Amino acid sequence: MGLIAANTALLIYFDHNATHPLLTSARDAWLDATERYIGNPSSPHRLGDRADRALTEAREELSELLGCLTHEIVWTSGATEANNTAIAHLSATQNGVAFVSSIEHPSVLAAVRRHFPDRHQFIPATPEGEIDVQWLRDALKRTEAACVIVMAVNNETGVIQPIPDVMQACMERKIPLLCDAAQWIGRRPIERLGELPLITGSAHKFGGPPGVGFLKCPYALRPLIVGGPQEEGRRAGTENLPGILSMLAALKTCVAEIDKPDFLKGRYKIKDGFETELKRLVPDVKILGASSYRIWNTTAVIMPPARDCRQRWVVKLDRLGFAVSTGSACSSGKEEPSHVLRAMRVPKDEAGRALRFSAGINTTQSQWQALLGALCQAANELA
Ligand code: PMP
Repeated sequence: MGLIAANTALLIYFDHNATHPLLTSARDAWLDATERYIGNPSSPHRLGDRADRALTEAREELSELLGCLTHEIVWTSGATEANNTAIAHLSATQNGVAFVSSIEHPSVLAAVRRHFPDRHQFIPATPEGEIDVQWLRDALKRTEAACVIVMAVNNETGVIQPIPDVMQACMERKIPLLCDAAQWIGRRPIERLGELPLITGSAHKFGGPPGVGFLKCPYALRPLIVGGPQEEGRRAGTENLPGILSMLAALKTCVAEIDKPDFLKGRYKIKDGFETELKRLVPDVKILGASSYRIWNTTAVIMPPARDCRQRWVVKLDRLGFAVSTGSACSSGKEEPSHVLRAMRVPKDEAGRALRFSAGINTTQSQWQALLGALCQAANELA
């Protein structure tokens, strides 16, 4: 623990959209569960029964937090598996075209290409990073839809997607809507998310451990992973009980913070203040999705031209003591600009200078201020 603390103290962490460090409550819950629940939830003895009861209670708690029915929760290894499972199920059970937003996470895009190889269409995004709902409405009038897939919050830009409008369009035509909420859950109140038929989430985005997540699904799901009776046949494999309990502990910690009266107002004030100052101090900076409704924890920018490629900004900031990202963790280091920036029609040379700063539940105003100082220094030295 001392070593971890010593290492992380070297860098101020602004990459929570890639992964959020484990919260203390989550670590405690994980350790507690490994000692308390030594049995396999499927085992017939009392220790198995005890683990199974803990699993059921966790399912009840999560469904209450999400506002859905208990049996709708399927535990998975994360959002990637949950997205793949939902998309495989939709392709096997629905006729028509999958309408998928062009700014989805790769775990959605790749699964759509695999399971709907010649029956998918991309919903375009506006230059401000929001999907074009009018385009979707028009397309749904013309084409039989198998499903619509739109994320709640984009992981690269933080732009909140117009889910209520998408939901309305889908409900009118009884089309299943899959919403990847990995970047929403644990950061904003759940609001009406629980009403959506298919939601996916991931523990490590809100301070739980990596390798655990869930799919909320009201259907008799066709399993992607087979070979065991777990999850009522919807997902084979021994459940990761310590991970699940740890995820719930993290989520409860986040929800307790989010529910505080001025939480969102306070966090937006910090981020908006950061952006205003950044634009004043580095005038050539461009904020991505600036006029869109965005989540409080994410600022994505195009930095002014540097003498070298985008990697330099990240490396420079790393040397100055800040862990930031060039976009999604999955896109970092690639030559091609991210598909999200392409969909927003950001020119290739600008996309090469994209940086993403993403805060966590414990990030402080003084850390944002320190980041501002480092960006000014980097801009002076690189631009
Ligand atoms: N969806 C989104 C929006 C994400 O940001 C991520 C993580 N980068 C995932 C899905 C994948 O989640 P996991 O790491 O749990 O598989």
